[in-house]
Amino acid sequence: ARARYAAARPRSAAIHARARAVMPGGNTRTVLFYTPFPTAMARGEGCRLWDVDGHEYLDLCGEYTAGLFGHSDPRILAAVREALERGINLAAVGENEGRLAALIVGRFPSVELVRFTNSGTEANIMALAAARAFTGRQTVMVMRGGYHGGVLTFPVGGSSAVSLPVPLLFADYNDAEGAAAAIRQAGEELAAVLVEPMLGSGGCIPARPEFLPALRAATRETGALLVFDEVMTSRHGPGGLQQRTGVIPDLTTLGKYIAGGMSFGAFGGRAEVMAVFDGHRPGALPHAGTFNNNVLSMAAGCVAMGEIFGAAEAEALFARGEALRERLNAACARAGTAMHFTGAGSMMAVHFRRGPVTRPYAETPAEAGLRELFFLDMLEAGIYLARRGMTALSLPVTEADCDRYVAAVEEFVAARRPLLP
Ligand code: PMP
Repeated sequence: ARARYAAARPRSAAIHARARAVMPGGNTRTVLFYTPFPTAMARGEGCRLWDVDGHEYLDLCGEYTAGLFGHSDPRILAAVREALERGINLAAVGENEGRLAALIVGRFPSVELVRFTNSGTEANIMALAAARAFTGRQTVMVMRGGYHGGVLTFPVGGSSAVSLPVPLLFADYNDAEGAAAAIRQAGEELAAVLVEPMLGSGGCIPARPEFLPALRAATRETGALLVFDEVMTSRHGPGGLQQRTGVIPDLTTLGKYIAGGMSFGAFGGRAEVMAVFDGHRPGALPHAGTFNNNVLSMAAGCVAMGEIFGAAEAEALFARGEALRERLNAACARAGTAMHFTGAGSMMAVHFRRGPVTRPYAETPAEAGLRELFFLDMLEAGIYLARRGMTALSLPVTEADCDRYVAAVEEFVAARRPLLP
């Protein structure tokens, strides 16, 4: 499969070879690196992609959830073009940032005040800074298998080489009792608990019903702030996954799709916490960033959240994803394989082990091999997924597109059955 992949992509290979001479590994985004070389894309439209060697794909990667609106929504393009016409970044506040902030505050239950960043990574860093400033405490709890950005990566069974100089305490995702006990034990040392209400890059693993309430109760007792990283999961309902689960954190971080696909991050929450940044107050915490309010993101975000992705659209997308995941799992069950898909709504990930998968795990070499094979076979079938087997549906994806994915998975299971668990 790998040889066939390489033979069909001479231009991607050449692009990689040239980039490798001037960039370590030939790219600048770890998640897009894989051997022998990644496919280079030339163009996208709606939920279709064309690579530089002329292959067409159904895009079910959805830019790791940032591509919610597809590649060419005319309303987003118009907003960006109009902002461009008025001049790129004016070193001043503009009207759109307050508009976008109002849209976000109106949507997410925990967010009374919000500030913008360039990325989800920065949003999480700033949320932790806010929590530490507000509580006057230092330590932060994170989950093994959690992902909150390049410097906030906490792989299972390994350690992150790049991290923040902050005292960290680790807990296991979905271990309600263990995490709550650790929070209580840390007591007044602990400033914040940072958690994804569903693990995203850790394998699209939803929180068990008791997990988030246990974190909420324990942090309320000790005075640590509960921070939900909803960079990916905020798409799961009009008010994010927090609204769906009913567990309301003190702070929430956002990113990905919210600026219509332009660079984006945001963090917000309780007014009294966010007030640490209020420039009207003496000693306010600084939060600078040249592109925090860049005019393209602000303009695109207003249209994306104000005109396109409303409550009805969020519910419909969630339902479409739930239905797709059920069909994929039914196909795996019919074939009698342990392969299955976890996730919620429009985000799902494939696993090559017997379920239910409720904890993140370090995959075995055999699993890694199957994951690569799945990715390559899907490419061959004209379906572009995240390399790790994650799907994030975008709004342009139709029922017929979902049918096509189900058929491709059925074919994979039939063709590769001897290799599957
Ligand atoms: N948090 C989560 C849950 C994410 O999935 C990501 C990105 N995949 C981030 C934070 C970091 O966002 P960014 O890549 O915009 O820095």
